[in-house]
Amino acid sequence: MLEEVFARVEAKRDDIVRLTQELIQIPTINPPGEAYTPCAEYIGRRMARRGFQVEYVRGEGSPGDSARYPRTNVVTRFEGRNPGPCVHFNSHMDVVEVGKGWTVDPFAGVVKDGKVYGRGACDMKGGLAASIIAVETIIECVGNLNGALEISGTVDEESGGLGGVAYLAQKGYFSPPRVDHVIIPEPLQKDRICLGHRGVWWGEVETHGEIAHGSMPFLGDCAVRHMGAFMEKLEKRLYPLLEQKQTEMPVTPKEARRSTLNINSIHGGQEPSGEGLPSPCVPDSCRLVLDRRFLIEESLDEVRGEVVSLLEDLCRERENFRYSLKDLLEVLPTMTEKDAPVVRAVAEGIETVLAKPAEYIISPGSYDQKHIARLGHLYDCIAYGPGILEMAHRPDEFVGIDDMIDSAKVMAQAALVLTGTIAR
Ligand SMILES: [Zn+2]
Repeated sequence: MLEEVFARVEAKRDDIVRLTQELIQIPTINPPGEAYTPCAEYIGRRMARRGFQVEYVRGEGSPGDSARYPRTNVVTRFEGRNPGPCVHFNSHMDVVEVGKGWTVDPFAGVVKDGKVYGRGACDMKGGLAASIIAVETIIECVGNLNGALEISGTVDEESGGLGGVAYLAQKGYFSPPRVDHVIIPEPLQKDRICLGHRGVWWGEVETHGEIAHGSMPFLGDCAVRHMGAFMEKLEKRLYPLLEQKQTEMPVTPKEARRSTLNINSIHGGQEPSGEGLPSPCVPDSCRLVLDRRFLIEESLDEVRGEVVSLLEDLCRERENFRYSLKDLLEVLPTMTEKDAPVVRAVAEGIETVLAKPAEYIISPGSYDQKHIARLGHLYDCIAYGPGILEMAHRPDEFVGIDDMIDSAKVMAQAALVLTGTIAR
């Protein structure tokens, strides 16, 4: 049966290319969340023709949702002949802005040298296309499928996924008994299995001062200088500490195999008006946003506590040092076990199709798996799909056609095993 499935996937080369092109041609740019409904309907129409039940779920009231930019998700399901587990393939439909430096039309779906080019080709319309081809082929070849197959196209992954996977997970779309195994075809390379991601904490630190005339700063208290003292603490104490924190998680690239901190933004004093000079004032406020990525070995309390302890030290050491700290975003690290069913099934698929052992990785940044774990309480979830991660969000983004074909075969084999349709 497997040989027949593989041969048929191979024969669908033109189909997978056309599908990828047509998905790229729907410019689902986020923000603002352009063309979500036509993209969801395109997927829905195609799956309906193959006998899938199609449901559109709007992320009503989620950030950015409006009459002009509805957060339209599509969830489709094919019921097999016999009862059994459900395998769900989840792809985000949104793509990031185009940016500069393109040599091809980013929304034409240009095919050149065995690759399909366009914004979202790699992240992740190529992966979506591969998963659609995988399930369609299974349905054509296998009369008595066990369990069920699902394909979803969801919104807003690039901006946190609240109107997409998070919304659906809250409504039970990513929980047993409806769904048992989830594969997210993000572009992690066809021979690699992504088990999860590091954690995220975004915090905003504000230092407070006192406004006064800039010619007599001694009458006020400069919030920017207080922030400068905090930044010195970060340099001298926190950065060296983070360097020490290594992880057992196989994060790729290797440089991310430790804790990291990015200072996302800083602003003190008057907002720049663009025109003319600012008025001479001592700034009474300075705000700084921290983007801290943390490891499975660390807790959120510890991560936050490190920053609080620097700030508390400054309260003791510096006259009039006052601060506030606001949590902006928290995502816990997640890592599916290597012997989990979905991991084993995909690893076997990689061995069969590519004749090599799978590589296991952890993503430095988070993706929709967080919502499936935290809100769906479903932990048998990985990211696996064609495309090279480094191409994501770049000019002249592309996905390799052979890579899509190979990963579609891997997905098909994994789905047949996980539904119990074929034995391992
Ligand atoms: Zn993505």
